[in-house]
Amino acid sequence: MQSDFVQNVSHELKTPVTAITGFAETLLAGAKDDPEALDKFLHIIQTESQRLTQLIQDTLALSRVGSSNDHIEKVPVAPLVQNALNSIQQPLKDRKLHVNVELDADLSLDTNRRKLSQIVRNLVNNAVFYNKEGGTVSIVGVRTNGGIRLQVSDTGVGIADDEQQRVFERFYRVDKARSRNSGGTGLGLAIVSELVADLGGSIHLASQLGVGSTFTVALPNAVASEHNQDN
Ligand code: ADP
Repeated sequence: MQSDFVQNVSHELKTPVTAITGFAETLLAGAKDDPEALDKFLHIIQTESQRLTQLIQDTLALSRVGSSNDHIEKVPVAPLVQNALNSIQQPLKDRKLHVNVELDADLSLDTNRRKLSQIVRNLVNNAVFYNKEGGTVSIVGVRTNGGIRLQVSDTGVGIADDEQQRVFERFYRVDKARSRNSGGTGLGLAIVSELVADLGGSIHLASQLGVGSTFTVALPNAVASEHNQDN
């Protein structure tokens, strides 16, 4: 499984690297003297570099999922949600999306901050990315018996029934051309589901094509004595 993963990552890395090399060579061979080509190819190089960065970040995130001596602390949920939203202010504006956040007062979880933050960010990013113009992103968090339940919903493109299990697989993209153009790596939900499992929680997806999707994550409070011994 590990060597499959390395092969897949290498394959995915090759595409942007080939594009960056190719367009840089074309520019050096003379295209740089044509202002229109210069601008166009530099933009492609920029997009492909960003994609490369995202792939590397996602690969690192996956490799860190199982790190056992992660620090556990009381993590307030509201600031994590706010950070996730702040980092996508521009796409939210560009797509004229409405945001609805409903969190129980002082909602918090005893957990690893970085992991919870990554779960929230990936789900919120997807809810923005796969939304329709003028749609709504909704984030609802409630306290449960021993943990929290977080729901991230969108009014976007939705996911067909037969794809709903597969979207959690590493590198799986529903519409490869479309997700690729929008910068997707196919790793976001794999990271989410592996992190959720690592934190002892569960994830559920309800979605309807053309209507929208709701991802529900249930997470338990970590037992400090099990995790905190190295910190
Ligand atoms: P990507 O980097 O392609 O977004 P993900 O692992 O986050 O990778 O998602 C896998 C696929 O699941 C995406 O390519 C997309 O087709 C689909 N998907 C994820 N989230 C949503 C959503 N909120 N609405 C519709 N489709 C989604």
